[in-house]
Amino acid sequence: MGSASPTPEPVLSTPLRISIAGALGRMGQAVEAAVSARDDMVVTARFDRPGLEAPGIVTVEEALVLCDVVIDFTTPAASVALTRMVAARGGVAMIIGTTGLTEEDLAQIDASAATMPIVQAGNFSLGVNMLMGLVAQAARALGPDAYDIEIFEAHHRRKVDAPSGTALMLGEAAASGRGVDLAEASVRVRDGITGPREPGTIGFSVQRGGGIIGEHSVSFAAEDEILTLSHSARDRGLFARGAAEAARWVAGRPPGRYDMMDVLSLKA
Ligand code: NAD
Repeated sequence: MGSASPTPEPVLSTPLRISIAGALGRMGQAVEAAVSARDDMVVTARFDRPGLEAPGIVTVEEALVLCDVVIDFTTPAASVALTRMVAARGGVAMIIGTTGLTEEDLAQIDASAATMPIVQAGNFSLGVNMLMGLVAQAARALGPDAYDIEIFEAHHRRKVDAPSGTALMLGEAAASGRGVDLAEASVRVRDGITGPREPGTIGFSVQRGGGIIGEHSVSFAAEDEILTLSHSARDRGLFARGAAEAARWVAGRPPGRYDMMDVLSLKA
């Protein structure tokens, strides 16, 4: 692999061995199906919440012995704790798809990424990662005097965080195109007498209902035209297939926190 890393490269199995964190969840089951459909990797262990017993479910300790890569779609607290356990064990890489991670969570994940490779992404689809590049480009070209940026997302009724990780990634892409800090430019809530829209802000709005898998759009609204760039997810297998692709890519990489733009070679 030609890595300059001081960490010895792990000996990778063929097929690649995958442990699924949150195996009983919606994404865990989609990951099981996505990995099972490939012949270059195999699910060797499944685990879920500590203490939860179900057929085919092992403990996290057992699961870490049996794999090269852990694919994790769980909760922020679980993902952070898991990265610490995986880093302490060594020789295993991680894919983190969990959303709702705070800056503090990411700092803790970065501490683990000093000794192990991790791909962390709020969205594993090729289309959304393409969309981020297009949004940054449009935000660069369509200035704040004429164009207001508004981000909309819709998800199923069981989603617990808002705005979605993907909406925030799109916000970061728009902010980077405009050369501003998203934390300062974003308007996350509007209620009551809000006054007129502040120029240069990036607005978010959120819908929750039914079984919506994931809708995202970024509008650039001027007085005389609106450009809308959007993405619609039709099947959560999309994210699971992207996560499996990321697992193939990350195995044997030098330590560090990577994202899906690295996996898809979409970095400018
Ligand atoms: P879910 O609630 O259906 O599944 C989560 C699973 O994690 C549950 O089975 C739960 O028991 C398990 N879990 C909780 N704590 C755990 C622990 N300590 N160890 C192991 N397992 C634990 O949720 P979901 O719809 O599958 O989504 C999971 C996460 O993935 C959410 O944050 C969601 O926003 C995110 N997501 C990301 C993408 C992406 O592309 N990055 C796509 C879809 C969903």
